[in-house]
Amino acid sequence: MTDRYAVFGNPIGHSKSPRIHSLFAAQTGQDISYQAIVAEREGFAAAISAFIAAGDGPARGANVTVPFKEEAFRLATQRTPRAEAAGAVNTLTFDAGAISGDNTDGAGLIRDLTHNLGCDPAGRRILLLGAGGAARGVILPLLLENPAELVIANRNEETAARLALEFADSFARLPGCALSVKPDGASFPGLGGRQFDLVINATSAGLSGAVLPLPTSVFAARCLAYEMVYGRATPFMQQAREAGARVTDGLGMLVEQAAEAFFIWRGVRPHTAPVLAALSGK
Ligand code: NDP
Repeated sequence: MTDRYAVFGNPIGHSKSPRIHSLFAAQTGQDISYQAIVAEREGFAAAISAFIAAGDGPARGANVTVPFKEEAFRLATQRTPRAEAAGAVNTLTFDAGAISGDNTDGAGLIRDLTHNLGCDPAGRRILLLGAGGAARGVILPLLLENPAELVIANRNEETAARLALEFADSFARLPGCALSVKPDGASFPGLGGRQFDLVINATSAGLSGAVLPLPTSVFAARCLAYEMVYGRATPFMQQAREAGARVTDGLGMLVEQAAEAFFIWRGVRPHTAPVLAALSGK
């Protein structure tokens, strides 16, 4: 019987996860099926139950995307420390009635930076834009890489300040990394005069084509500008390119977080380079 997996979101039509996981399965010789399921906004838990109950083979796991990661966190009967830190779950594993929750987004970003992009966060000045689920999921993994500085900036300054406060203990435990969110929260225009080696856009502004009011000075010489949104050119990428930064989108993170989920489920780590190349049409 084929083990079943799925990704849940709303919307979900755009998802590349079914293709990524079927490429991983073919590469590693794993017999799995993987589908994309749109859940009603108020019907995430019911959709998961229906998925577990239905089908020809056993339901083994699920990926979870916008807007259900926090709900997946609550649904999980047990959670990994990194899911606890993120306050959100993107990978569920079903086992004899138990639902384990993990968050592979941070690991995916770090692996993309270090393995695919040659950008070691250690010692770098990092600016993280956004304070939603994606930003929350990458803060601790970034801090564990010992950057020189991590500044969180968000449109809603209060949310940024609250997030920084939540992670204050982790910041404090990491000597050499200054917690640089201003007490009043860092606004985008308030970043004037600051420079960063790595600027990560974890906002969803790119999805609507919105321009972030970023001072161009934030992009230091040889800066890497990382847009978490993938599959489209966003205003952030344009801004960064015009400021002379090296620019990448979030496709590598997507593939790497999927590889981490695949490893959790199947105990085999797939090679990501050929999958990334296939998805980017290279
Ligand atoms: P959330 O809805 O939780 O958070 C959205 C964030 O974007 C908030 O900080 C919000 O600010 C900010 N934002 C939204 N619109 C604007 C705007 N017009 N101007 C400025 N800020 C804005 O989303 P997530 O954190 O879950 O996801 C963020 C993005 O990351 C998504 O686009 C998602 O596709 C991408 N992502 C990519 C992954 C990958 O593997 N490549 C993995 C996970 C996410 P405010 O608080 O002020 O509302």
